[in-house]
Amino acid sequence: MRFDDGITKIKGVGPKSEKLFKALDIDCVGALIYDFPRTYQLYPKPIKKLSGNEGKKVAVRTSLRTNVVVRHTSKMDISTTGCVIGDERLEMIWFRMPYLKSSIKVRTEYVFYGELKAVRENVWQLVQPVVFKPLEYDKLERSPQAVYSLTKGLTNKAIKKAMALCLDDIELTEEYLPADILKKRELWGYHRAMDQMHRPDDMESLTNARRRLVYDEFLKFFITKEMEGAGISAIPNRWSFPETVQYEKVLSNLPFPLTTGQKDTLEDIKKDFSSEVVSQRLLQGDVGSGKTIIAFLAMLMAVENGFQAAIMAPTEVLCRQHERTFADYIKMFDLPYDVICITGSDKGAKRKKLNERAANEGGLFIVGTHALLSDNMNYHSLAVVVTDEQHRFGVKQRKILSQKGQDPHVIVMSATPIPRTLAMILYSDMKISVIKDVPTSRLRTKNAIITKNQRSKAYDFIKKEVSGKHQAYIICPLVEASEKTEAENVTEYAGALEKYYGGEIKIGMLHGRMSPEQKDEVVGDFAEGRTDVLVSTTVVEVGVNVPNATVMLIEDANRFGLAQLHQLRGRVGRGQWQSFCMFVDASEDEESSERLKILAQSNDGFFIASEDLRLRGPGDFYGIRQSGDMDFKLADIYQDADVMREASADAKEITAADPQLKSEESRKIAGYLKKMDTVVYSNL
Ligand code: ADP
Ligand code: MG
Repeated sequence: MRFDDGITKIKGVGPKSEKLFKALDIDCVGALIYDFPRTYQLYPKPIKKLSGNEGKKVAVRTSLRTNVVVRHTSKMDISTTGCVIGDERLEMIWFRMPYLKSSIKVRTEYVFYGELKAVRENVWQLVQPVVFKPLEYDKLERSPQAVYSLTKGLTNKAIKKAMALCLDDIELTEEYLPADILKKRELWGYHRAMDQMHRPDDMESLTNARRRLVYDEFLKFFITKEMEGAGISAIPNRWSFPETVQYEKVLSNLPFPLTTGQKDTLEDIKKDFSSEVVSQRLLQGDVGSGKTIIAFLAMLMAVENGFQAAIMAPTEVLCRQHERTFADYIKMFDLPYDVICITGSDKGAKRKKLNERAANEGGLFIVGTHALLSDNMNYHSLAVVVTDEQHRFGVKQRKILSQKGQDPHVIVMSATPIPRTLAMILYSDMKISVIKDVPTSRLRTKNAIITKNQRSKAYDFIKKEVSGKHQAYIICPLVEASEKTEAENVTEYAGALEKYYGGEIKIGMLHGRMSPEQKDEVVGDFAEGRTDVLVSTTVVEVGVNVPNATVMLIEDANRFGLAQLHQLRGRVGRGQWQSFCMFVDASEDEESSERLKILAQSNDGFFIASEDLRLRGPGDFYGIRQSGDMDFKLADIYQDADVMREASADAKEITAADPQLKSEESRKIAGYLKKMDTVVYSNL
């Protein structure tokens, strides 16, 4: 099979399953093997004592004294047997499996695996347990079992089956890295790594497999960056911004004093603007540190001098928000400039008019999504380009805007707390400013970790805040793999909440499957106070700013990475009021509550990232996308910092020796990068 072969090339996958796979964004063989397990399950150690394990999936290792008995009823065959574990009796029962009578032998050890039910005092039951030979179970006990994200109609078993056929196909995962790199970095072969990623023999293999694939991911990132970014940092600066009247006016009339970090950053930017080469600056600042006003002020310097300045944000919701904020500032300070907003949903005559303004009008603020990059966009005089939530945009996109805009100054903003040493590797082509402090006028968000049973208390608390004219976010539970869609899930939750409040509270709903217009309307309603509570998936994570919201309730908090929780929490505590964040911990797992406690302790993104890392052991990497940043499928810039350094160095070496990737060795690498771009990362 080839990477881009359709999924029906796999034996047993027909047009019906093809559709289901598509629903999971898997449209070819390559995309399938890069559909890594959502998590892994380990079979439990066999238990010695039944009591205390009620309701759990357990394994019981024992031999039977009596044969399995089969009863034939009119409906089906029922097989039963029993044994004694310690002084407790265990009954086992199977339906429609009469053959067990001859296959299970007495006085031979087996492992029975299933959910343990209590029947009466000292009597327990396993219904339909799976039967293993002890050796077979030992092996299973060591090997993590892949659990995939599912969609209705597609089972884990079906995915495993299709996956196995691909993994057995050696050509599909032919090695593309030179042998000397594999040796130097002690990396597993591509085929072996891919195989063990999906069906690991044990934890150690999984760790090795993952390390290799993480390396690949970083290598791709850095090679692409080297190739696309070449020369980007030394573009001569042909702009000058001598007029500063409006800028000074805004600066001295801000409704709040700038923090030291904000002031320093602004100085950095001003210096860039008057230097020999154009600015390429990363502006790093924790959630709520006030990056938007800095962007506005930087852009104002250009606009005031008759040029254009644009800010690009990853979602339509964020763009509309920026447009509103900018329009507010323009009005507040009585500035003689306009702001226009261009997104994918602006079409027809409206879009034409916007495009014309962009092409012909100087002294203009421009806000937009990727739409700003489209072929039909031309600019009058783009002098400053800011990208918000930078990780969503690659070097390539920055370059497109640069070219469109006659080499503008570039500022990228990110809320991810990356330690400086790592940032210098990831953004090696940029200068870095960090806003360390958050505005002092703010009260620190108060945190609580609660259990599911305390939820109604949380709802009542939300009600109290709402009656005090504030607003709340509720982040929905994650969809289990996967009975319902995200949309159904959010709708159901909001419906139940509506009932709970008896219609007293106005509830809005937000999820990723809504159209940009719908999303915009929902966020707009919330921002302007037409709804009180916003029930949402994690889509609100990126940059939404509604200072009046003072409560956030996060369901299933134990299942998120700490960095992501920190970003989510950053949606509250943005105004002058005391804010609250409640994490619902649905796990009974001590480790996960330990992690959540870190969040409750601190509101500092850097601290949280480092503590999270400290708490996690080497094998404990799954289900946590720590960085929540940079669209890596596996790699985690914190945890995999070492691999990242290696890949970065290797990428530099490879591209320095062969900048166009022309040699036979490099061509293999280039082929892999291309495959990844079209097959694996195209829909990220
Ligand atoms: P982020 O850095 O997460 O993008 P924003 O720029 O959205 O944060 O700012 C969050 C909120 O803080 C906004 O309502 C903004 O007006 C306000 N803000 C920004 N700077 C300050 C400051 N120095 N003092 C008080 N509030 C500020
Ligand atoms: Mg922001």
